[in-house]
Amino acid sequence: QWGSIRDELSETLGASSFKNWIKPLSFVGLEDGIARFQVPTSFMGNYVSQNFGDVILTKIAKIDSSVRRIAFHPVGTDAAKPVAKKKEAKPMPPKEHPYSDDRVQNDPLHGLPLDKRFTFDNFVVGKPNELAHAAAKRVAEGGPVTFNPLFLYGGVGLGKTHLMHAIAWELRTRHPHLNVLNLSAEQFMYRFVQALRDRKMMDFKELFRSVDVLMVDDVQFIAGKDSTQEEFFHTFNALVDQHKQIIISADRAPDEIKDLENRIRSRLQSGLVVDLHPTDYELRLGILQSKSETYSRMYPELSVEPGILEFLAARIVSNVRILEGALTRLFAFASLVGKPITMDLTQECLTDILRVSERKVSIEEIQRKVADHYLIRHTDLVGPKRVRTFARPRQIAMYLCKLLTTRSLPEIGRHFGGRDHTTVMHGVRRIEELKKQDAQIAEDVELLRRALEA
Ligand code: ADP
Ligand code: MG
Repeated sequence: QWGSIRDELSETLGASSFKNWIKPLSFVGLEDGIARFQVPTSFMGNYVSQNFGDVILTKIAKIDSSVRRIAFHPVGTDAAKPVAKKKEAKPMPPKEHPYSDDRVQNDPLHGLPLDKRFTFDNFVVGKPNELAHAAAKRVAEGGPVTFNPLFLYGGVGLGKTHLMHAIAWELRTRHPHLNVLNLSAEQFMYRFVQALRDRKMMDFKELFRSVDVLMVDDVQFIAGKDSTQEEFFHTFNALVDQHKQIIISADRAPDEIKDLENRIRSRLQSGLVVDLHPTDYELRLGILQSKSETYSRMYPELSVEPGILEFLAARIVSNVRILEGALTRLFAFASLVGKPITMDLTQECLTDILRVSERKVSIEEIQRKVADHYLIRHTDLVGPKRVRTFARPRQIAMYLCKLLTTRSLPEIGRHFGGRDHTTVMHGVRRIEELKKQDAQIAEDVELLRRALEA
């Protein structure tokens, strides 16, 4: 079961934190409510305990509620020794806990560690997220509080956590003296419950009332959890009264979160509520381009055939995390097999992802739309005539078939009056080039693509 917890942690913490801190842990065993792990070094044990201890414990406790503690043992020590006697092995012992005042000053960000990749620089802005981005930027300036709270919401993988971290990074650079606390609602609850259990409510209240900026990610988590909500409400009010900035994210709008007290709901709505819309093609392409530049620096020997990123942006519409995952896998795979990234390689490497996100656009539908658009007959579109009036729309239709369906080149060829696959390939390439040189063609293709997507 550690395996499934690990998977969840990799989701929650992001690939780099996961790789550096969680992956090297090995699960030793469970006894007397203590889950034991072996770590390569004691430094690492301390770091993981301080930064990820509560996340790991919360996840373990969800599966096995008898687990009350986790302990990390550096390799070479006797993991069987009763940990109760070793004070530092407790994950969050109140006294050694980093929430002492000077620690708060020196290390203001002791919520979840910030992901290095989640900066404003790495955030690609498009129509669907421009408002959320602008609002996040404004808050990150750290000027006088204008809207409080800032409430960001949107579906999975649309960049809420990324924006929250970006705000925290920016504030950290611009206003290093500010005490910024960035944590998930789950962590908030866990700390609250722990404070209750350890009779440390005063410390808890003091800590949360001493922050200058509070960010709570995935606030929908506290819905239905009455005492946590109650405490959150008081924390919230205390901070707003002191004109401290609060930033909240959720997977849906305040009035769509069920089992949330009304007074909290209206508090959440009292500032600025902005949503992240589902991505559109341009945004997905922008994100892929930005990511693939990074990868091209990492793997300078790999070349990417033109049209690949467009293909992925058109085909993987679900969420950005999956889009990124696809690109990561593609580069890793290509570098392993030592081959350039071609369309064939892409199809081979991403079969599963592409199958799931397959669009229901048929070749016939594409042909119909293209013929209508250019006011030509279907028979001419697929017929033998090679005059430009027919040939160009034909190539555009082939290009769209390649982009929007999973049909192979020979199959597409068969639908165009039994043309050879090399002819189809030539057509597809021609449009890829023309799109760059001829604004009219680029616009036509874009219009048609959108019409077919709808
Ligand atoms: P959420 O918290 O909304 O579920 P995340 O912030 O975790 O989503 O984003 C999922 C992944 O997608 C992250 O790796 C993030 O960097 C990436 N991502 C999302 N939107 C963008 C964007 N506009 N530009 C760059 N990367 C993005
Ligand atoms: Mg998130």
